[in-house]
Amino acid sequence: MPRPSTVSIDDLLTRLLRIAEDLAWSWHEPVQRPFAMLDPIAWEATNHAPIETVLSTPKARLAAAAADVRFLQTLETAERTLEDAQRAPRWFKTNHRGRDRRLKVAYYCSEFAIHESMQQYSGGLGVLAGDHVKSAEDLGVPLVGVGLLYRHGYYRQQFESDGRQRILYPEYDFDRYPIEETGTSIACPIGRRTVTARIMRLTLGNTSLLLLDADLPENRPADRRLTEGLYKGEPDLRMRQQVLLGVGGAMALEAMDERPTVHHLNEGHAAFAAVERIARLVEDGLDQSDAIARVRASTVFTTHTPVPAGHDRYPARDAAAAMSGVLRRAGFTGRSFADLGRETPGDRSEPLCMTILALRLAEHVNGVARLHGEVSREMWRSVYPEAETLKDVPIGSITNGVHPGTWLDPAAAAFWRKHIRLKPEIAKPDEAAWSKATNVDPAAAWALRNVLRARLVRFMHDRLVRQSVQRGDDPSERLAAGAGLREDALTIGFARRFATYKRAPLIFRDRARLAAMLNDPDRPVQIVFAGKAHPRDGEGQEFARMVYRMSKRPEFHGRIAILEEYDMRIGRELTSGCDVWLNNPIRPHEASGTSGMKPPMHLGVNCSILDGWWPEGFDGRNGFEIVGHPVRRGAAARDAADATALYEVLEDSLIPEFFDRSRAGVPSRWVKRALRSAATIPGPFSTHRMVADYVTTAYLPANR
Ligand SMILES: *Cc1c(COP(=O)(O)O)cnc(C)c1O
Repeated sequence: MPRPSTVSIDDLLTRLLRIAEDLAWSWHEPVQRPFAMLDPIAWEATNHAPIETVLSTPKARLAAAAADVRFLQTLETAERTLEDAQRAPRWFKTNHRGRDRRLKVAYYCSEFAIHESMQQYSGGLGVLAGDHVKSAEDLGVPLVGVGLLYRHGYYRQQFESDGRQRILYPEYDFDRYPIEETGTSIACPIGRRTVTARIMRLTLGNTSLLLLDADLPENRPADRRLTEGLYKGEPDLRMRQQVLLGVGGAMALEAMDERPTVHHLNEGHAAFAAVERIARLVEDGLDQSDAIARVRASTVFTTHTPVPAGHDRYPARDAAAAMSGVLRRAGFTGRSFADLGRETPGDRSEPLCMTILALRLAEHVNGVARLHGEVSREMWRSVYPEAETLKDVPIGSITNGVHPGTWLDPAAAAFWRKHIRLKPEIAKPDEAAWSKATNVDPAAAWALRNVLRARLVRFMHDRLVRQSVQRGDDPSERLAAGAGLREDALTIGFARRFATYKRAPLIFRDRARLAAMLNDPDRPVQIVFAGKAHPRDGEGQEFARMVYRMSKRPEFHGRIAILEEYDMRIGRELTSGCDVWLNNPIRPHEASGTSGMKPPMHLGVNCSILDGWWPEGFDGRNGFEIVGHPVRRGAAARDAADATALYEVLEDSLIPEFFDRSRAGVPSRWVKRALRSAATIPGPFSTHRMVADYVTTAYLPANR
């Protein structure tokens, strides 16, 4: 039935808020259009928050929209997009029958990155978790996410004029979040107290994300802080947060009658969930050993880092005290519990390690790339004394991916739709869909690359000016901000958390050599950076400061720029706009890394040390390898060797190839490499493939 050509303002508001409440809008671009069209300035100013945009739009503008046929058509398209997504055939339902269909996964994580308007994430772990949940929804895998809802989220970053990071904690108004109060709460025992947390729900199509909020008047101030911020606060607060995440999370699933058959602990932060589940089974009359066996069989654990500081360790006595109520119900003594989290049970000097606890209570364990699986087997070998060789250590690997709907730029999506009949809306683990990219006309591909790069340069320029104004720079600096960036320069991107092992400043080791490379008038090169350091990581902050100061040096003017506040928005702009994605971690400290999986969909290529996912992704012709030299003479020699290897690949291969143009102005060899990058990477390194792997190798075995 055709709709009337105008609607009332109330109807319009109802319809807009209805589509805003299903976070499927965050990866179905047509659903975002009505908000962008309604009030483009509010849409930008709110970092693309639909509800805030609607609520801040003046009445007169709403009235105009309600009478605007084009607007109403856009709204209808948005509504239809959501309905079509609901109706689409689901990979899981088509391919699985019988008992397997009863699968229900509870997916625990301390952070979820769903969209830039909700700063509930700090980096790769959250992005991966958000992408996992979205792919589960697309594929029809029954899954419910469990996490915490942080009043201040993760910090927001500004640079002072000397490059120091200013750390800001804005307070979020959850009334303006697309989040629903379920009306249900839990009472979570933490130490001697009981903490109340209300269960909030984010809806993504048929999939829910349950987030706990302890910032309630009935809690003591110290307990209200449990959900104050992400990675904010002292270690003891962090430990108690993890009790809330694990124990509270398992209680929340029960309170909501979710009945998961499989519990997936995404990182060790949620390991206490397994202990709560044991307590529950013991209360129901099971022997403790049977309860442990049952919980183990149905628990999946993914470990995410080989960096020692990434594994939380707490004084055993403190952990036992915080968990005392649960331990009593589960029949554990403080010591038997602590031993579960120790490499050497019985060694009372050893703290409790959340990763070891999770390893002991999960039967299905994996790292996040093939190499990381190997490294993890070595790292945790002592937890499995029965394993005779390294191969017997029961830790596998499932390589990470990225969610195509979230990271594929709409202009690029239209390009692939046209040239290789890609149907990004058909959600199935399809590694072949991209393989035809190598047949695409190089001139057309180069044209797309130029469009995406030019857009990035304009975006950078806007942001750099805004940063400069906010910081109160003097007018000459304000004018210079971003002015030198060029739309035709080879554009290299480096954006990630500024963890020290990622070595953001590595490329500055030989400044003169770098300056010569960037300032060749015939072959301009520019590097764009973004990234936050953990607020407690002084060295990481120093790295950010150093890159900032480099961007201000005269020899790097217009060639080096750093953006504040790396978030999903900036992530999308950079990974779609850059020609090259640079990655130079200390091998093998990068468990996987996922940002490098995003540029290939946009004809970007990786230039990376063979670490994380790159040994699986690199085939010799779809990007560049930084041939790091194994050096045993300490950190400085290693960094020097890796920096030299980086300069060599840039000077000898990468830059010459980019500027080697045909008579028509196309860098043929370069485009061939970029098309190969598109043909070989987005298919296998998608979270659709990843979630399908979790289903077949972990979830279904655990479900049985
Ligand atoms: C993709 C992404 C990440 C993950 O990057 P790594 O390469 O894994 O470090 C982190 N943050 C944002 C905003 C991203 O978009």
